[in-house]
Amino acid sequence: MNPTTNKNLSSVWTHATDLLIESGRGCKLLDHSGKEYLDFTSGIGVTSTGHCHPKIVEAVKTQSEKLLFGQMNIVSHQPVFDLVEQLKPIMPEGLDTFFFSNSGAEAVEGAIKLAKQATGRSNVVVFQGSFHGRTHLTMSMTTSKTIYRAGHNPLVPGIYCTPYPYAFYYGWDEQTALDFSIRELRKLLMSQTAPSETACIIVEPILGEGGYVVPPAGFLKAVRSICDEFGILMIADEVQSGFGRSGRFFAVEYENISPDIMTMAKGIASGIPLSGIAYRRELDDRWPPGSHGGTYGGNPIACAAGAATIQVLKEEKLVVNTKIRGNQLMKSLRDLQKKYPVIGDVRGRGLMVASEFGERGKPDVSRTKAVIAAAREEGLLLLSCGTFGNIVRWIPPLIVTEEEIDEGLGIFERALERTRH
Ligand code: PLP
Repeated sequence: MNPTTNKNLSSVWTHATDLLIESGRGCKLLDHSGKEYLDFTSGIGVTSTGHCHPKIVEAVKTQSEKLLFGQMNIVSHQPVFDLVEQLKPIMPEGLDTFFFSNSGAEAVEGAIKLAKQATGRSNVVVFQGSFHGRTHLTMSMTTSKTIYRAGHNPLVPGIYCTPYPYAFYYGWDEQTALDFSIRELRKLLMSQTAPSETACIIVEPILGEGGYVVPPAGFLKAVRSICDEFGILMIADEVQSGFGRSGRFFAVEYENISPDIMTMAKGIASGIPLSGIAYRRELDDRWPPGSHGGTYGGNPIACAAGAATIQVLKEEKLVVNTKIRGNQLMKSLRDLQKKYPVIGDVRGRGLMVASEFGERGKPDVSRTKAVIAAAREEGLLLLSCGTFGNIVRWIPPLIVTEEEIDEGLGIFERALERTRH
């Protein structure tokens, strides 16, 4: 039965499509009627190695025959050590201590709890448009759309919001947006949350759900230096931008900075639920053992899938592929922008690319929806993002080929043409 018409499934689950999927392979999904779709959603940035990559399937199979579960508060197991060994060489400098959980929101929860314990401070600074999850704490930190927060008050206190340097939205050049954002952050620390009460500043190195916004060069460095000035911990939320998605292993590498804590999920394990935080060892002395945990975190199957995913990313040089295919995609989208002025902006890094519909102050939501629907009819799956839902985000698997990018763009152009008024 189609999940969207199954009366026993919760309606709180929205569905971008009514597809009932049978199987997946590489960049393709096959529905129950045998129709093939080019999946440029990657399950919201999860299936970076493509659907059912043989090496990930093999790692999961092998591990499931040995040990399905080993609870981390009770025992240790080899897959968690293997995962750590795979992670260590790709981490930003100084991040050498790991805690594992199951979802992005849980990783963010862990990061904030650690920051509060390590600093003895209570407050958290977030950026406008961020998405950090849907648990009560992470929802309170999420400002990408009101739907995530409305009806849940009172939210968790001690969370303060400051503007992200979203140049296209403000209609400014990058430098003006950068200066504004840093000025407002400093003002927030002088007017609302005293540095002595501020545990951390959490930032998405590329804004995800809030619009696939690449911040101007210098932004992450400036946040890092404000954190250093006031003894505030910097948390980079790499849940969406991590594991090669940006064309580097982690998007913070673009500014050569290292956060104190980094959150990871989505692309880490090719679809098997796994998330984690990486942090500096010295913070560990201030995190009381037992003050955080969870039954399933670091389970052996997820760890085996995670270790295999990192191996595949390296062996198949997928981070390099991401950069090349991302450049191909952005160049072609910019060409389309000249032909279809409804595309107000094209931006991105690696295979985290946005085409924003409408002009500043006039988001074209209906055209965005129409184009995505028309593309789906022709076999291309795309998602929107942004506060107003007027941004098409391009997140194909990192294994995507030149031909598949061209195929996707061809369908997108036909969808633009068909939806022209
Ligand atoms: N942080 C970021 C940057 C995200 O993009 C997301 C999910 O989209 C989350 C956290 C929450 O992750 P999850 O949905 O796995 O809880």
